[in-house]
This record gives sequence, structure tokens and C-alpha cells, in this order.
Amino acid sequence: MIASADRDALVSLLADRVEFGVPLARHTSLRIGGPADALATPADRDELARLLALCHARGLPTRVLGAGFNVLVREGGLRGVVLRLKKLRGIERTEPDAIHVEAGASHSTITRFCVTHGLAGLEFGAGIPGTLGGWLAMNAGIGSRELKDVVREIELLDRTGRTLPPRGRAELDFRYRALDGLPEGAVLVAATLAVTPSEREAVQAEIDRLLARRQATQPTDVPSCGSVFRNPPGDFAGRLIEAAGLKGAREGAAEISTVHANFIVNHGGATARDVLRLIERARETVARATGIELEPEVRVLGEAVDPDDAVDGAGTAALSREGDRS
Ligand SMILES: Cc1cc2nc3c(=O)[nH]c(=O)nc-3n(C[C@H](O)[C@H](O)[C@H](O)COP(=O)(O)OP(=O)(O)OC[C@H]3O[C@@H](n4cnc5c(N)ncnc54)[C@H](O)[C@@H]3O)c2cc1C
Repeated sequence: MIASADRDALVSLLADRVEFGVPLARHTSLRIGGPADALATPADRDELARLLALCHARGLPTRVLGAGFNVLVREGGLRGVVLRLKKLRGIERTEPDAIHVEAGASHSTITRFCVTHGLAGLEFGAGIPGTLGGWLAMNAGIGSRELKDVVREIELLDRTGRTLPPRGRAELDFRYRALDGLPEGAVLVAATLAVTPSEREAVQAEIDRLLARRQATQPTDVPSCGSVFRNPPGDFAGRLIEAAGLKGAREGAAEISTVHANFIVNHGGATARDVLRLIERARETVARATGIELEPEVRVLGEAVDPDDAVDGAGTAALSREGDRS
């Protein structure tokens, strides 16, 4: 809960750009998640900086949520202020072979911009739903292409709202589906991405090809959070889970997708606990059958509503640590 003096301070800064007690199920692709004490959508970078300063001064925890495509939020929800950057969504071509993108720009806005301006290099992102901030924090990618391949520089605010010096590619510790080494609580606000001048039709054709392939291999019409586990070296988490006989396994309304075994889908009314149980089952079954410990990709956030729903076992403990780091 937010104390009433803190509430007043937030409203005085943000007016109707802050809401209280907002169910995060409305803001995650899995359609699961309890309330954020406060959900703030700053109008621009200056307001974001003022908001971070205010939260820091008042001891209110903050956490950025992108478009919620790679998170599982527990039913107890998130304390403090959840930040959404969807109003920071500007994109500009700054050089013949570079674009400057704000962190709240969505995957579709970015790839549409590239088609309109005939810029190649980011087609792989067309089917990776989310915002630039989420793409960067997750080093999003598909096949051999990852965000790190196109990032030239990122811009950050620290947890107190101070602008940090921009960090060039060489100073960034990207790894498979993660960006490590950022200061605790830092917010990614923008990045410069490398692109290659091309023909609009060629860029569009490559996007269409990748989207068609995705449509054929992933459950795109049911709520999910994308890949639940990282692929282990030299193998695929989906293949291992399928080989362990878990395609179609259910807990409540959550199911290991029958289309792609590394996806868990919500058939309506699934809880975080259902999803965590399926995750644990997949980890245990695969480890028993193959000795391979699957590592989670999805970030588990928020509080449990009852003790049984809390971290239970090695798998969800690892998930929790992952989530807490972001
Ligand atoms: C159907 C489907 C298909 C998918 N396919 C792929 C795929 O092929 N490849 C892939 O890599 N992913 C895939 N994903 C997962 C997801 O699309 C990516 O992880 C994406 O990068 C998430 O972006 P987001 O904005 O939704 O981030 P969120 O899920 O909201 O957040 C993810 C993490 O990023 C942090 N974060 C977000 N914005 C910021 C910021 N501005 N500053 C600091 N931290 C921030 C959050 O705190 C959180 O820890 C898929 C998901 C779905 C639902």
C-alpha cells in the first residue's frame, strides 16, 4: 500500500498518469498478475527523471515493466511504483545507418519505421513482442540474431533519476537473453541501433517470411509469455520438454502448449501458481530424464498470496532471483 502523503506526491507530479491498485493481469501477455500499488506512465524523459527522484526520496521501490511479454507476476502483485514507458516512444533516423529509439517504442512501431524508411537489420524483431526496453533487458533474439548485434549505444537513468553517461556496445555485458551489469534500479531510456539502407519491399518481404514461420510454429492466438526456458547449449528446451512427454500437461487452466513445448499458455483463469507448478514439473522431468537443468527465461515478479505459492524448490528459486535482478 502507498501511504497517503506518497500518493498525494505522485498525483501532484503525474496527475492522471498514475493509477493505484491496478491489476497487472491487464498489463501482461499471460493475463496473470495481482495489483501494482501504483502504475505510473510518465509523459516524457524529464517527467520520468522527476518521478524516479521522488520515489527515491520517499523510499518507494520502483520497477519498469515493458509491454509485459516476458514476465509472470504473482497474485500478490508488486509493491511500490511500477513504471511504464509507453509515452517514450520516439524514433528518429540520426545517421544513414543508425536510428535512435526511445525505450517505450513497441516492436511493431520500430519495424514499421524500418519498412517505411527502407532500413534493414531489425526484421528479426518483428515477431518478438515488446518494447525496446524489454528487448534490451532481455537481449531478445531469434535463431542466431540478437539485439546485441545491432546496439551501438544505450542511454540510462539511475534509480535517483540522474542521467548516466551513455554506454557504448563494448561496455555492455549482453549474454543469452539478458543484459548484465547495469546499476541496480537503472532504467533504460533509449538506444541507438545500427541499420542498413535497403529497399522497403525487401525489408517487408523478410518480415513477412519470419512472421509466417513463427505463425506456423508457435501458439500466437492464446495468452503466453513466449519461451519459458532458455535453450541449453546445443539443444532446444522445447525439444527436451516434448521428449519428456509433457506437451499438453496441465495445471488448472495453464498448459504446456501442444504447438510448442517451451510455451505455457493460459486457457483462461490460470494462476501464477499453476504456471509455476508446470515450470517446476518441466524442470524436474527433464533433469531426471537427461541430467540437463533448464534455466528459466521468463522473469517471475511480485509477491505470493499464500506461503504455498511462494518460492518452492530450486526451479522457482532460480526464477525469483532472475526476476529480482531486473
Ligand atoms: C508469443 C511470444 C513470442 C515471443 N518470442 C520471442 C522470441 O522469439 N525471442 C525472444 O527473445 N523473446 C520472445 N518473447 C519474449 C518477449 O517478447 C521478449 O522478452 C521481449 O523483449 C519482452 O519485452 P517487454 O517490453 O514485453 O518486456 P517485459 O516482459 O515487460 O519485461 C522484461 C524485463 O525487462 C525489464 N525492462 C523492460 N523495460 C525496461 C527498461 N526500460 N529499463 C530496464 N528494464 C526494463 C523488465 O523489468 C523485465 O525484467 C516472446 C513472447 C511472446 C508472448
